[in-house]
Amino acid sequence: MGSLPGRISLFVLAATLVTSLAVTAISLRAVQDFLHAKIDAKFPELLHSASDKLELWFGQRASEVQVFASTRILADDLPRLAREPGTARGRRAMREIHQFLSHLHGSSPQYASLFLLDDRGRRLLSVGDEITLPEDLTEWLATEATGVSEVLELDGRFVQLVSAGVESRGGRRTGSLHAVLVLEALSGLLATTDVGGGELFVVGSEGDVLVSSGGPSHGRRFERDLPEPEIEPTVVDYNNGAGERVVGSAVSFPRFGWTLVVEESYDQAFQPVVSSIRRTFGINLAIVVLFGLGAVRIAKSIARPIADLSKGVQRFAEGETDVVIAGHSATPEIRLLIRTFNAMTARLHQKTRELEQSRREVQQANVRLTSKNDELSQLNEVLEQLSITDGLTKLHNHRYFQDHLSREVKRASRNEEPLALILIDIDHFKSWNDRLGHAGGDEILRKIAAVMSQLVRETDLLARYGGEEFAVLAGDTDLEGAVALAEKLRARVSNTSFFLEPPSDRHQVTVSIGVAVFRGDKKRLFNDADRALYRAKAAGRDCVVAADEEE
Ligand code: GH3
Ligand code: MG
Ligand code: MG
Repeated sequence: MGSLPGRISLFVLAATLVTSLAVTAISLRAVQDFLHAKIDAKFPELLHSASDKLELWFGQRASEVQVFASTRILADDLPRLAREPGTARGRRAMREIHQFLSHLHGSSPQYASLFLLDDRGRRLLSVGDEITLPEDLTEWLATEATGVSEVLELDGRFVQLVSAGVESRGGRRTGSLHAVLVLEALSGLLATTDVGGGELFVVGSEGDVLVSSGGPSHGRRFERDLPEPEIEPTVVDYNNGAGERVVGSAVSFPRFGWTLVVEESYDQAFQPVVSSIRRTFGINLAIVVLFGLGAVRIAKSIARPIADLSKGVQRFAEGETDVVIAGHSATPEIRLLIRTFNAMTARLHQKTRELEQSRREVQQANVRLTSKNDELSQLNEVLEQLSITDGLTKLHNHRYFQDHLSREVKRASRNEEPLALILIDIDHFKSWNDRLGHAGGDEILRKIAAVMSQLVRETDLLARYGGEEFAVLAGDTDLEGAVALAEKLRARVSNTSFFLEPPSDRHQVTVSIGVAVFRGDKKRLFNDADRALYRAKAAGRDCVVAADEEE
């Protein structure tokens, strides 16, 4: 339930449930109060009505027995029967009275039996059920009893005696008439009061249930406190003797010290509340389920596009740029968000492609630039080479020779190694030019360069020093070695055939060479070599002259 749909659904469920439970509780309370009010009004009214009926009924019973007792038959025949039982008059009186009482018993079903006592309490005659009277009652019955008696338990039944004295014409009580009223007979009377599904019953002063509208009641007891007379009945709910919850009300019936009780099962009395609870609960459940399902649907429809969106953002964050989110079922706000996101990723995707294209172009340009650079460095190298090379003879030129000389002079000074300089000048070159033309002169220059290149060591430097002048800088070489090398150069040039014809005076190219060694001064080295060369020219050319040591 940690997810968004879960939480929204739970919230809606809780909200609907709480609301509907609250409404249910309030309405149930209202129904219950209403029913209570109804019962509160109904029960006391019912008890009063039943009480009035009983009062009236017992009054009728008392007066009817009084009427029976005061008939002439009893007034005249009872003394005869009492005094002359065995005589003919006595037997006739017995017959007449028996007839009369049988008639009364037949027409008054409420009485179980009727019996007649003489003034000493002897039972003269009885009709109906045989009743055994307790001894101690006899005298009271014979002499005083009038009206309705207290409740007596006789032969296992609750009964009352309705009594009236039988008087002679002179007004003397000669005996008494008693009707036995079995209280169960009251059941029908109680049943005439409509108590709905409830029960109306009479409780004796000792707490025994004497009679009930609901049928046999013998042995039942009413365990609650009996109400005081004159107290208006109220309705309470309690558990009855059988442990059943009931609503009930009681009122005192003072005539016999009785209590009238009306009770109804609580469930039955509040049946409308119970069915209302069931109905309301059912409806509530349906509402909760309906709204719950609706909430789940709505929450899902909100959460799914959000989940899609966050997945898309995650993919985007991981480097995917062509992320497109569908989000058809989203709400307008989320749709706008998704559209904006899609537009953003599309733009970014486009930009990334353009960037990638530019990167490729830059890369290609870089490759081209690198190759151009290489070309340029090669060219530079060539240029560099050209700048230190003499184009005609392919030997190092004057500039390079000077740089090299400076370095070698420094090295020779530092290491105290000998360093020799050989200056070579072509003899009568002007006239070769004149004879062969400038191109022919160039050809001679090239050939002499090539010939001399073969003789010098790799560590020696042969350079074209001027127009038709060459120089050799020989490291680690003393004057003697240098003169030997100069001689080899001169001889080789002199013996080289520069033309198709074999060498002759006419065709022989010669060189004059001046040799000097380094004596601590670069300028002097040059001057020494130059002077030696000059002397070689002066000596007739085609020769080697070494600089004098003492010069
Ligand atoms: P000498 O024996 O005294 O040296 O006589 P020479 O004629 O060689 O005299 P010099 O050294 O004064 O003359 C050099 C000539 O070399 C002058 C010039 O025309 C020629 N020369 C210089 N550079 C070049 C070149 O590159 N090519 C050609 N063909 N001739 C050159
Ligand atoms: Mg010269
Ligand atoms: Mg010359």
